Amino acid sequence: MENIEPFERWSDEQVLSAAVRYGEEARKWKNKFLGLLPEVDRRKLYVQKGFTSVMHFAQVVGGVSEAQVQTALRLNMQFRETPILHTLFTSGEIGMNKLARVASIANQDNEEFLANQVQMLSQASLETLVRDTKRSDTKILRTQNQALSAIEETAQVAVPLNMEVAQELLKLRDKGIDIDAELKLFLEQRKAEIEVQKEQIGENCQETDSRYVPKEVRDVLKKEYGTRCSMPGCTRPSEELHHTQRFSLAKKHDPRYMALLCREHHQIAHSRDVKIQEIKKRKRT
Ligand SMILES: [Zn+2]
Ligand SMILES: [Zn+2]
Repeated sequence: MENIEPFERWSDEQVLSAAVRYGEEARKWKNKFLGLLPEVDRRKLYVQKGFTSVMHFAQVVGGVSEAQVQTALRLNMQFRETPILHTLFTSGEIGMNKLARVASIANQDNEEFLANQVQMLSQASLETLVRDTKRSDTKILRTQNQALSAIEETAQVAVPLNMEVAQELLKLRDKGIDIDAELKLFLEQRKAEIEVQKEQIGENCQETDSRYVPKEVRDVLKKEYGTRCSMPGCTRPSEELHHTQRFSLAKKHDPRYMALLCREHHQIAHSRDVKIQEIKKRKRT
Protein backbone atom coordinates (compact mmCIF):
# COMPACT_ATOMS: atom_id res chain seq x y z
CA MET A 1 0.00 0.00 0.00
CA GLU A 2 1.42 3.35 -1.06
CA ASN A 3 2.03 5.91 1.66
CA ILE A 4 -0.54 8.66 0.98
CA GLU A 5 0.51 11.02 3.77
CA PRO A 6 2.05 14.36 2.66
CA PHE A 7 5.79 13.99 2.09
CA GLU A 8 6.63 16.26 5.04
CA ARG A 9 5.33 13.60 7.40
CA TRP A 10 7.34 10.75 5.85
CA SER A 11 10.43 9.59 7.71
CA ASP A 12 13.86 10.20 6.12
CA GLU A 13 14.10 6.51 5.42
CA GLN A 14 10.72 6.47 3.63
CA VAL A 15 11.60 9.49 1.49
CA LEU A 16 15.00 8.10 0.57
CA SER A 17 13.87 4.57 -0.25
CA ALA A 18 10.93 5.87 -2.33
CA ALA A 19 13.25 8.27 -4.21
CA VAL A 20 15.69 5.46 -5.00
CA ARG A 21 12.88 3.16 -6.12
CA TYR A 22 11.20 5.82 -8.30
CA GLY A 23 14.58 6.66 -9.84
CA GLU A 24 15.28 3.04 -10.69
CA GLU A 25 11.83 2.56 -12.16
CA ALA A 26 12.08 5.80 -14.14
CA ARG A 27 15.36 4.68 -15.66
CA LYS A 28 14.02 1.25 -16.45
CA TRP A 29 10.90 2.59 -18.19
CA LYS A 30 12.96 5.06 -20.18
CA ASN A 31 15.19 2.20 -21.33
CA LYS A 32 12.13 0.15 -22.27
CA PHE A 33 10.78 3.10 -24.24
CA LEU A 34 14.06 3.44 -26.12
CA GLY A 35 14.13 -0.31 -26.74
CA LEU A 36 10.68 -0.17 -28.35
CA LEU A 37 11.40 2.86 -30.53
CA PRO A 38 13.06 0.96 -33.42
CA GLU A 39 9.84 -1.02 -33.85
CA VAL A 40 7.76 2.18 -33.83
CA ASP A 41 10.15 3.48 -36.47
CA ARG A 42 10.05 0.32 -38.57
CA ARG A 43 6.23 0.42 -38.77
CA LYS A 44 6.15 4.22 -39.10
CA LEU A 45 3.58 4.32 -36.29
CA TYR A 46 4.58 7.85 -35.26
CA VAL A 47 2.58 9.10 -38.25
CA GLN A 48 -0.64 7.95 -36.57
CA LYS A 49 0.15 10.33 -33.72
CA GLY A 50 0.73 13.23 -36.11
CA PHE A 51 4.55 13.23 -36.05
CA THR A 52 6.75 13.39 -39.11
CA SER A 53 9.68 11.46 -37.66
CA VAL A 54 10.44 8.94 -34.93
CA MET A 55 12.86 11.48 -33.51
CA HIS A 56 10.15 14.07 -32.93
CA PHE A 57 7.78 11.41 -31.60
CA ALA A 58 10.39 10.19 -29.10
CA GLN A 59 11.26 13.67 -27.91
CA VAL A 60 7.67 14.71 -27.31
CA VAL A 61 6.22 11.42 -26.04
CA GLY A 62 9.22 10.08 -24.12
CA GLY A 63 11.19 13.19 -23.29
CA VAL A 64 14.38 11.60 -24.59
CA SER A 65 17.21 13.39 -26.38
CA GLU A 66 18.07 13.15 -30.05
CA ALA A 67 21.36 11.43 -29.16
CA GLN A 68 19.53 8.77 -27.16
CA VAL A 69 17.17 8.02 -30.02
CA GLN A 70 20.09 7.70 -32.41
CA THR A 71 21.87 5.34 -30.03
CA ALA A 72 18.72 3.21 -29.69
CA LEU A 73 18.30 2.92 -33.46
CA ARG A 74 21.98 2.11 -33.89
CA LEU A 75 21.97 -0.55 -31.15
CA ASN A 76 18.94 -2.18 -32.74
CA MET A 77 20.98 -2.54 -35.95
CA GLN A 78 24.16 -3.63 -34.21
CA PHE A 79 22.41 -6.34 -32.20
CA ARG A 80 20.68 -7.87 -35.25
CA GLU A 81 22.95 -10.94 -35.15
CA THR A 82 23.15 -11.16 -31.35
CA PRO A 83 19.69 -12.03 -29.96
CA ILE A 84 20.74 -12.28 -26.31
CA LEU A 85 22.09 -8.74 -26.29
CA HIS A 86 19.09 -7.55 -28.27
CA THR A 87 16.74 -8.96 -25.63
CA LEU A 88 18.75 -7.24 -22.92
CA PHE A 89 18.41 -4.00 -24.87
CA THR A 90 14.62 -4.22 -25.15
CA SER A 91 14.15 -5.46 -21.57
CA GLY A 92 15.07 -2.06 -20.14
CA GLU A 93 17.18 -3.70 -17.42
CA ILE A 94 20.49 -2.38 -18.75
CA GLY A 95 21.28 1.22 -19.64
CA MET A 96 22.07 1.99 -23.27
CA ASN A 97 25.48 3.43 -22.46
CA LYS A 98 26.70 0.08 -21.24
CA LEU A 99 25.23 -1.77 -24.20
CA ALA A 100 26.72 0.74 -26.63
CA ARG A 101 30.08 0.09 -24.99
CA VAL A 102 30.07 -3.63 -25.82
CA ALA A 103 28.31 -3.33 -29.19
CA SER A 104 31.60 -2.71 -31.01
CA ILE A 105 33.05 -6.09 -30.00
CA ALA A 106 29.88 -8.20 -29.85
CA ASN A 107 29.47 -11.29 -32.02
CA GLN A 108 27.61 -14.61 -31.85
CA ASP A 109 30.49 -16.29 -30.03
CA ASN A 110 30.91 -13.82 -27.21
CA GLU A 111 27.43 -12.36 -26.76
CA GLU A 112 26.48 -14.61 -23.86
CA PHE A 113 29.68 -13.68 -22.06
CA LEU A 114 29.11 -9.98 -22.79
CA ALA A 115 25.48 -10.14 -21.66
CA ASN A 116 26.81 -11.53 -18.41
CA GLN A 117 29.43 -8.79 -18.10
CA VAL A 118 27.12 -5.82 -18.73
CA GLN A 119 24.99 -6.99 -15.82
CA MET A 120 27.97 -7.40 -13.51
CA LEU A 121 30.40 -4.62 -14.31
CA SER A 122 30.45 -0.90 -13.77
CA GLN A 123 30.70 1.44 -16.76
CA ALA A 124 34.44 1.98 -16.13
CA SER A 125 35.20 -1.75 -15.88
CA LEU A 126 33.25 -2.42 -19.07
CA GLU A 127 35.32 0.16 -20.89
CA THR A 128 38.45 -1.61 -19.69
CA LEU A 129 37.11 -4.98 -20.82
CA VAL A 130 36.30 -3.66 -24.30
CA ARG A 131 39.68 -1.97 -24.59
CA ASP A 132 41.48 -5.18 -23.53
CA THR A 133 39.52 -7.23 -26.05
CA LYS A 134 40.32 -4.82 -28.87
CA ARG A 135 43.95 -4.68 -27.84
CA SER A 136 44.38 -8.46 -27.77
CA ASP A 137 42.78 -8.62 -31.23
CA THR A 138 45.28 -6.13 -32.65
CA LYS A 139 48.10 -7.95 -30.88
CA ILE A 140 47.23 -11.15 -32.71
CA LEU A 141 47.33 -9.21 -35.96
CA ARG A 142 50.62 -7.62 -35.07
CA THR A 143 52.25 -10.96 -34.21
CA GLN A 144 51.08 -12.34 -37.50
CA ASN A 145 52.65 -9.39 -39.30
CA GLN A 146 55.80 -9.70 -37.27
CA ALA A 147 56.23 -13.32 -38.28
CA LEU A 148 56.46 -12.09 -41.85
CA SER A 149 59.07 -9.41 -41.24
CA ALA A 150 62.47 -9.90 -39.65
CA ILE A 151 62.42 -9.79 -35.85
CA GLU A 152 64.45 -7.03 -34.22
CA GLU A 153 67.36 -8.45 -32.24
CA THR A 154 68.39 -5.32 -30.37
CA ALA A 155 66.57 -2.28 -29.01
CA GLN A 156 67.61 1.18 -27.90
CA VAL A 157 65.97 1.90 -24.56
CA ALA A 158 65.93 5.26 -22.86
CA VAL A 159 65.84 4.74 -19.09
CA PRO A 160 66.98 7.58 -16.85
CA LEU A 161 69.82 6.24 -14.69
CA ASN A 162 71.59 7.59 -11.69
CA MET A 163 74.88 9.17 -12.89
CA GLU A 164 76.96 6.74 -10.85
CA VAL A 165 75.14 3.72 -12.25
CA ALA A 166 75.46 5.03 -15.79
CA GLN A 167 79.20 5.56 -15.40
CA GLU A 168 79.69 2.06 -13.97
CA LEU A 169 77.84 0.57 -16.91
CA LEU A 170 79.87 2.54 -19.42
CA LYS A 171 83.07 1.47 -17.64
CA LEU A 172 82.02 -2.16 -17.97
CA ARG A 173 81.27 -1.64 -21.62
CA ASP A 174 84.70 -0.08 -22.18
CA LYS A 175 86.31 -3.11 -20.55
CA GLY A 176 84.64 -5.22 -23.22
CA ILE A 177 82.19 -6.81 -20.78
CA ASP A 178 78.86 -7.85 -22.30
CA ILE A 179 76.45 -5.56 -20.41
CA ASP A 180 73.48 -7.17 -22.08
CA ALA A 181 74.42 -10.59 -20.70
CA GLU A 182 75.07 -9.12 -17.24
CA LEU A 183 71.68 -7.42 -17.14
CA LYS A 184 69.99 -10.55 -18.38
CA LEU A 185 71.56 -12.47 -15.53
CA PHE A 186 70.47 -9.82 -13.04
CA LEU A 187 66.90 -9.99 -14.31
CA GLU A 188 66.84 -13.78 -14.10
CA GLN A 189 68.22 -13.71 -10.58
CA ARG A 190 65.70 -11.11 -9.54
CA LYS A 191 62.87 -13.22 -10.88
CA ALA A 192 64.18 -16.35 -9.15
CA GLU A 193 64.60 -14.46 -5.89
CA ILE A 194 60.97 -13.33 -5.96
CA GLU A 195 59.84 -16.87 -6.73
CA VAL A 196 61.79 -18.24 -3.77
CA GLN A 197 60.40 -15.56 -1.45
CA LYS A 198 56.86 -16.27 -2.56
CA GLU A 199 57.42 -19.99 -2.15
CA GLN A 200 58.71 -19.54 1.41
CA ILE A 201 55.91 -17.21 2.46
CA GLY A 202 53.33 -19.40 0.76
CA GLU A 203 54.51 -22.65 2.38
CA ASN A 204 54.49 -21.06 5.83
CA CYS A 205 51.27 -19.08 5.67
CA GLN A 206 48.52 -20.19 8.03
CA GLU A 207 44.80 -20.33 7.47
CA THR A 208 43.11 -17.22 8.77
CA ASP A 209 39.75 -15.48 8.87
CA SER A 210 41.38 -12.06 8.80
CA ARG A 211 41.30 -10.15 5.53
CA TYR A 212 44.40 -8.25 6.62
CA VAL A 213 47.22 -9.06 4.22
CA PRO A 214 50.60 -9.34 6.04
CA LYS A 215 53.27 -6.80 5.14
CA GLU A 216 55.74 -9.39 3.81
CA VAL A 217 53.09 -10.60 1.35
CA ARG A 218 52.34 -7.07 0.17
CA ASP A 219 56.05 -6.33 -0.12
CA VAL A 220 56.92 -9.32 -2.28
CA LEU A 221 53.94 -8.64 -4.56
CA LYS A 222 55.01 -5.03 -4.89
CA LYS A 223 58.51 -6.20 -5.76
CA GLU A 224 57.10 -8.43 -8.48
CA TYR A 225 54.39 -6.17 -9.90
CA GLY A 226 55.62 -2.67 -9.01
CA THR A 227 53.00 0.02 -8.56
CA ARG A 228 50.94 -0.64 -11.68
CA CYS A 229 48.10 -3.05 -12.34
CA SER A 230 49.49 -6.47 -13.27
CA MET A 231 47.22 -6.98 -16.29
CA PRO A 232 49.35 -6.81 -19.44
CA GLY A 233 49.07 -3.41 -21.08
CA CYS A 234 47.26 -1.75 -18.17
CA THR A 235 49.06 1.28 -16.78
CA ARG A 236 46.63 2.25 -14.06
CA PRO A 237 47.89 2.21 -10.46
CA SER A 238 47.36 -1.09 -8.66
CA GLU A 239 44.88 -0.34 -5.95
CA GLU A 240 43.60 -3.73 -4.91
CA LEU A 241 44.95 -7.14 -3.95
CA HIS A 242 43.24 -10.01 -5.68
CA HIS A 243 43.22 -13.64 -4.50
CA THR A 244 43.15 -15.89 -7.57
CA GLN A 245 41.98 -18.65 -5.24
CA ARG A 246 38.93 -17.25 -3.51
CA PHE A 247 39.89 -16.07 -0.06
CA SER A 248 36.58 -17.22 1.43
CA LEU A 249 37.48 -20.80 0.44
CA ALA A 250 41.29 -20.91 0.69
CA LYS A 251 41.48 -18.67 3.78
CA LYS A 252 45.14 -17.93 3.06
CA HIS A 253 47.11 -14.91 1.93
CA ASP A 254 49.42 -16.97 -0.27
CA PRO A 255 51.37 -14.61 -2.57
CA ARG A 256 51.67 -17.37 -5.19
CA TYR A 257 47.95 -16.99 -5.74
CA MET A 258 47.63 -13.24 -5.48
CA ALA A 259 47.97 -10.30 -7.84
CA LEU A 260 47.88 -6.53 -7.69
CA LEU A 261 45.14 -5.08 -9.86
CA CYS A 262 43.53 -1.75 -10.63
CA ARG A 263 39.91 -1.37 -9.53
CA GLU A 264 38.49 -2.07 -12.99
CA HIS A 265 40.50 -5.23 -13.66
CA HIS A 266 39.70 -6.44 -10.16
CA GLN A 267 35.99 -6.13 -10.86
CA ILE A 268 36.46 -7.95 -14.17
CA ALA A 269 38.42 -10.74 -12.44
CA HIS A 270 35.54 -11.37 -10.07
CA SER A 271 32.75 -11.11 -12.60
CA ARG A 272 34.25 -13.98 -14.63
CA ASP A 273 33.47 -16.41 -11.80
CA VAL A 274 29.78 -15.78 -11.84
CA LYS A 275 27.46 -17.46 -14.30
CA ILE A 276 24.54 -15.61 -15.84
CA GLN A 277 22.12 -18.04 -14.18
CA GLU A 278 23.39 -17.05 -10.77
CA ILE A 279 22.78 -13.40 -11.51
CA LYS A 280 19.25 -14.08 -12.63
CA LYS A 281 18.63 -16.16 -9.53
CA ARG A 282 19.89 -13.36 -7.31
CA LYS A 283 17.73 -10.81 -9.09
CA ARG A 284 14.64 -12.86 -8.51
CA THR A 285 15.15 -13.24 -4.77
ZN1 LIG B 1 39.81 -10.22 -5.74
ZN1 LIG C 1 44.19 -2.77 -14.77
